[in-house]
Amino acid sequence: MAWTCYSCGIKNPKTADVCQKCGGSVAAPANFYIQWIFGGAVFFLIFYITGTFAGGVLIESVAVPENSAVLAEINAARKADVPEYKSLETAEPEVLTAAKAVVTEKNKAKMSGLFKGVLYWCFPVVLFVLCGIIVGFISDGKTILEPGIGSILGQAGGVALHVYVFDSDLTWMVMAIGVVPGFGLAALGAWLGEIIQDRRERAGGITA
Ligand SMILES: [Zn+2]
Repeated sequence: MAWTCYSCGIKNPKTADVCQKCGGSVAAPANFYIQWIFGGAVFFLIFYITGTFAGGVLIESVAVPENSAVLAEINAARKADVPEYKSLETAEPEVLTAAKAVVTEKNKAKMSGLFKGVLYWCFPVVLFVLCGIIVGFISDGKTILEPGIGSILGQAGGVALHVYVFDSDLTWMVMAIGVVPGFGLAALGAWLGEIIQDRRERAGGITA
C-alpha cells in the first residue's frame, strides 16, 4: 500500500523508503487526515458563528439613527394629546427606545441588499481564510483539502445553528451559495498556513 508523507502530503509507493519529493521518511498516521477534517470543522463552526454575528452587529451599528431622525419619529408617533418633544432628553426612556428601534429598522430597510451582504459577510470571509491558516499551520502534516472539507461541515453546523437555534434570517440557501466559496477560502488559508509552517520549519532547521 502506498504511504502518505507526513511532511509534504504526497503519496509514495510502498517500495520507497523515503519520500520521493522531500526525502522525509515519516508516514502520516491513518487517522491524521480524518482528525483534521473534524478538528477543522469545529474551528470553522466557531469562526462562522462569530463572523455572522459580527456582521449582524456591523449592520446594526451602520443603521444607528441620527438623533434628529429619532426625535422626528417620536413626534410622529406621539398621541395627539401629548405635547411635542423638543429634544431627546425630555423623552421617556421607553419612548426613546421604541423610536430608536423603529428608525434603525427603517435605516436597515433603506440599505441595498448588496451593501448589507458585504457588511454581513466581510467577517466570515476574512475569518474563513484566517481559520484555514490556523488549521494549516497547527496541523503537523500537510493539510489543505482537509480544512476545506472541514469548512463545509463547519458551515453546515453554523447554518443549522442559525436556522434551528438562533432563529435568524439565514436559510439553507445561504449554505448552498456559500459552500464552494467557503471551501475555496478555507483551502486558500490552509495553503498559506502550510507556507508559513514550511518557512518556520526551515528557519528553525527542523527536518521531518
Ligand atoms: Zn514528502
